[in-house]
Amino acid sequence: MSEELRVESWLVSAGRPEGCGSPLNTPLVPASNFLLGSERGYARDNGTPTWEALEEILGGLEQGRSVAFSSGMAAISAVFDQLSAGARVVLPEDCYQGVSGLVAAGARKNGWSVRRLAVEDTAAWVEAAAESDLLWLESPSNPLLIVAELDVICAAPRKTGAILAVDNTFATPLHQQPLELGATFSIQSATKFIGGHSDLLAGVATTREEQRWQALRVSRELHGATPGTLEAFLAVRGVRTLALRLQRAQQNAMELAERLSRHTAVACVRYPGLAAHPTHAAARRLLKGFGPVISFDVRGDADAACRRIRLIRHATSLGGVESTMERRAAVPGQGHLPAGLIRLSVGIEDVEDLWKDLCQALA
Ligand SMILES: *Cc1c(COP(=O)(O)O)cnc(C)c1O
Repeated sequence: MSEELRVESWLVSAGRPEGCGSPLNTPLVPASNFLLGSERGYARDNGTPTWEALEEILGGLEQGRSVAFSSGMAAISAVFDQLSAGARVVLPEDCYQGVSGLVAAGARKNGWSVRRLAVEDTAAWVEAAAESDLLWLESPSNPLLIVAELDVICAAPRKTGAILAVDNTFATPLHQQPLELGATFSIQSATKFIGGHSDLLAGVATTREEQRWQALRVSRELHGATPGTLEAFLAVRGVRTLALRLQRAQQNAMELAERLSRHTAVACVRYPGLAAHPTHAAARRLLKGFGPVISFDVRGDADAACRRIRLIRHATSLGGVESTMERRAAVPGQGHLPAGLIRLSVGIEDVEDLWKDLCQALA
């Protein structure tokens, strides 16, 4: 990111074409190949101007270089692709289920050994760093919203050549900068807040290490995990308003979290912005904002509440302008979660309308 620009200005101005007569916006370039004589050649190998705009914007946010992929899981897979057979992997107990599945497959096929640690057990992560080939962290975690002490964990001495990767989807680069703390990779499911409108699948991995960046590119090329052109265009269009959307949605989320914690139908609210949250201190220290996602446990029938919701949509995923919620234990592979736990991704609607809807659904 250029030195003189703040994040909000970078989001709006980066990745635009230069030169007289150029279109103001990043063009949607639907091309598999380019006329020879330049570096470009074939899109799967060398990218397209539309993907590069997304990579420029996100790379600049973390002062690294980004590679855009077809989904968050494709970006994550490209990171795990850098492991050798027999690698020692550490995952958080509260972890995106796709990553758990990916690592389970790696254990079967490549003999990876897998340990799982509580997100908040900083001492265990520090100890594991010295002897592991890959530490995978997600902070705030999904869906319990536990904040890892990334500053301490990233600074811990690591085994030579070890990778420390942070899934930064929930925080976004606006609230947390893992590479600045010393992580090898920062990963975004651009499907969520980056795109922001629940209308695309894309992912981005960012690193400051040239060889690691090259390896991501090779992985994308060989696995063909390329972003769709329209998706990259939409992600660029979406990310322009990221700062505004986040600010508004998390303001709503803070208000709703406070009100929910006083609601008689709610047993527990898990929001890093609340003083009662177990990792509130780490959240205050490490995050520039507490984010738009709230998890809460209801006392009654959580499925009924999800069915009754009207303005808030009963849907999975998160990060859109619209509020969505679902009972997480109902999701396959998530049966270990508290049965009444609802994950609410707060959007940019009016907070009083959202509250009215929640009240009628919880009544
Ligand atoms: C959604 C999500 C992913 C996976 O991203 P896709 O774009 O769906 O492949 C990974 N990590 C987190 C934290 C997510 O929320």
